[in-house]
Amino acid sequence: MKSLDDAIQILIAQARRCDRLAVEGVPLGSAFGRVLAEDIASLIDVPAYDNSQMDGYVGIAVEMNNALEPMEVSQRIPAGHPGEPLRSGTVARIFTGAPIPSGANAVVMQEEVVLTSDGRVRLTTPIAPGHNVRARAGDLAKGQTILTKGRRLSAADVALCASVGVKILRVVKPPTVGVFSSGDELRQPGEPLGFGQIYDSNRPMILGLAKALGCQVRDMGCLPDTREATTAGLAEASLHCDVILTCGGVSVGEEDHIKAAISDLGSLDLWKIAVKPGKPFAFGAIGGATLMGMPGNPVAAWLTFGLLVRPYLLARMDAEIVPLRGVRAVAGFDWISPDSRREFLRGWLDEEGVVQIHGRQNSAVLSSVTQSGGLVDLAASTPIHRGEFIRFIPYTEFLS
Ligand code: AMP
Ligand code: MG
Repeated sequence: MKSLDDAIQILIAQARRCDRLAVEGVPLGSAFGRVLAEDIASLIDVPAYDNSQMDGYVGIAVEMNNALEPMEVSQRIPAGHPGEPLRSGTVARIFTGAPIPSGANAVVMQEEVVLTSDGRVRLTTPIAPGHNVRARAGDLAKGQTILTKGRRLSAADVALCASVGVKILRVVKPPTVGVFSSGDELRQPGEPLGFGQIYDSNRPMILGLAKALGCQVRDMGCLPDTREATTAGLAEASLHCDVILTCGGVSVGEEDHIKAAISDLGSLDLWKIAVKPGKPFAFGAIGGATLMGMPGNPVAAWLTFGLLVRPYLLARMDAEIVPLRGVRAVAGFDWISPDSRREFLRGWLDEEGVVQIHGRQNSAVLSSVTQSGGLVDLAASTPIHRGEFIRFIPYTEFLS
């Protein structure tokens, strides 16, 4: 058996050995979720000019503090309008985001002045130079790197690019990922369910997971349990896909045809990974396509995608791969008969910061995923008692 960490490292190394995916330029509005193919540097200083953080009055701090009389308001500077140089002995009305006029160095907020009946201004508290002034380049300097290659772009990342004037981003073209389910017992939602049949839940799940990573997904349908049909389906997919994902049919039973079909078409390794749920995992190649075969049980397929397929796909896209870290939390449960494999339980962090686990941990029970918020990562053969520390990985981190 392979350890999970070894399996992940092998997959990442394999992905890095593949031909690099093409790069394309996309406008900002289409960049969310894409993987940056280059570092991005700011085209400007941010802010590009000293500006006001408040609606108020701008002047010279020492003059405003020492004025014996209320001060004249000599101009009005709204956002988007450069003012005139400040006339000595006066202040200017100014609004949030408007440029500080030359000569001035501090903004007093409008709540901190008294306006006289003839429209003059008197401060109620002293003011320091630089007060309420957002200084030029206070956030970013022109030429400074703001995002690095491999970054999966968040909405804030895209906004940051816009704020520094970058219009087009060079991003990695997503791999085409074909998704198969397999099994004679599977029917599609909308079809009547005969005795002994179940609905195909893995395929839409895996399509969604791959799509959420930014991959170009192709629904390849459900493979029947025959070697001929499986071979034909996989051969066809290998012509159009960079990566082929299957689920089910990778154990050692005689109804498991995926293994035989890949051996007919290309090369295959069948890994036993020391993780529960999800032991069997197929990794192979058909022509130029990589094949990854996940277990059939829905929770095992879901977990295997997150643990193994996800880092592989991220590595193919040259994306930064952040190892799962989770948080240290207190166990609100006993787990006294641990498995000899590393085990992932579905659970959630309650309001007290204590981790509770779902009552049904069987790998066929999909609702244990939807009714929980994260994974408890348990070391092999290590019993856990209520009150001990465990590692909890929120789903936001697991599948982000
Ligand atoms: P297998 O590895 O093909 O023997 O499948 C293991 C278990 O997972 C069996 O109970 C299958 O019925 C179930 N299974 C396989 N594929 C799917 C699927 N696409 N959706 C739901 N359950 C599945
Ligand atoms: Mg099957």
